[in-house]
Amino acid sequence: MFDPLLVGHSAVRERLLERVGAERLGGSLLFVGPDGVGKRRVAMELAQRELCFRRSACGQCQGCLMFKDPLPVELPNLLRIAPEGKAGLIRIGAIRGDDLVEGGVIQWAHRAPPPGCHRWILVEDAHRLNGASANMLLKTLEEPPAGTHFLLVTHRPEAMLHTIRSRCERIAFQPLGADEAWAVARRQGWEENSREPWTALAAGTLRYLEPEAFQRASDQLDAWITVSGGGSFSGACAPLLPAKDAESSQGEQVGQSLEILLLLLADVARCRDGKALRLKPWAAGIERLAGSGLALEKPQARIFEALRNLIRNPSPDALLREISLVLGA
Ligand SMILES: [Zn+2]
Repeated sequence: MFDPLLVGHSAVRERLLERVGAERLGGSLLFVGPDGVGKRRVAMELAQRELCFRRSACGQCQGCLMFKDPLPVELPNLLRIAPEGKAGLIRIGAIRGDDLVEGGVIQWAHRAPPPGCHRWILVEDAHRLNGASANMLLKTLEEPPAGTHFLLVTHRPEAMLHTIRSRCERIAFQPLGADEAWAVARRQGWEENSREPWTALAAGTLRYLEPEAFQRASDQLDAWITVSGGGSFSGACAPLLPAKDAESSQGEQVGQSLEILLLLLADVARCRDGKALRLKPWAAGIERLAGSGLALEKPQARIFEALRNLIRNPSPDALLREISLVLGA
C-alpha cells in the first residue's frame, strides 16, 4: 500500500534535499531502516519534487497526482524495480531484458534526464535482487551516469550481497515516534481504545494499518507466548505459518513472524531486568515467561541467523518448528 502522505524523517529529508539542490548527492544510496517506516516514500519524494508544479511535492498538482496507488513502474524521471511473484525476487529479466522497461534498466539509466530533473532508479526491497540481477547492476552502481541516482531501499541489509552494499552510501532511517505512527493509524480509522496494543506491536512502523495485518501479528504474539511457555508447536502454529493467499512472499511473512518473536524475547529480558514492558497488553504472558527458565540468547542468535538467510530458506514450516525447539531447549 502506498500512502501519498509523508510522515516523519524530517532531518533525513532536509539533508537529502539540500544535497540534491547543491548537486552533492551520491549516485548510489542505500536507504536502511525498519520495514514500514516510509523509506520508499522518502525516496519517491526526491522524484516527486522535480515533477511537482510547485517544486514542493505539494500532493495537489497534476505532477504530484502521478504518485498515488497504483504506482506506475515508470514516470518521466523515475523507474521502480520491485520484487515479483511468490518467491518475491528481482529477476534478471527485469534488469537486462524488456520486462520492466524497453531496452532494460541500464539503458534507461544512461538516457538524459528530462529538463530540470534527475533520473531516479528506485530498487524496492533491494535484498531481493537475485545474484544475477545484483551482478548485472554492480558496474552501474559503482559509477552511475551523471544525473542518475540509484536509491536502494531495504529493511534487511544483512541479506544483501556485500559487493552491492559496499558500493552504496548508507542512509539510516529510525522508527517513527509512537505518536507519529498512531496519528497515521487514526487517519486510517483506528479507534482510540486500540492505541495501546496497536502502538506496542507496530513499534514505530506502519506495518499494521490494515486491521487484518494487526490481527495476524497479535495472533502470532499469542502463539509465540504459548510455544515459548512449552505449549505444542503443532497446536499453536497456524498463525505463524505463511498465508497462501497473501500479497507478500513466504520468506517475508516468516520474517515478520520471527520479528514478533524477537519483540517478545526482548520484553521477557526487560521484565527480568525490572524494566517497563513495551508489549504491556501482553504483560501477563510475558511475566509468566520471565519467571520460567526460558533461555533468550540462543533463540535470539538462531533467529538473527534465520533472518539473514530467509531468501534461501525453502521450508517455513521446518524453520519455525526448529526455532520452537530451540525455545524449548
Ligand atoms: Zn505538486
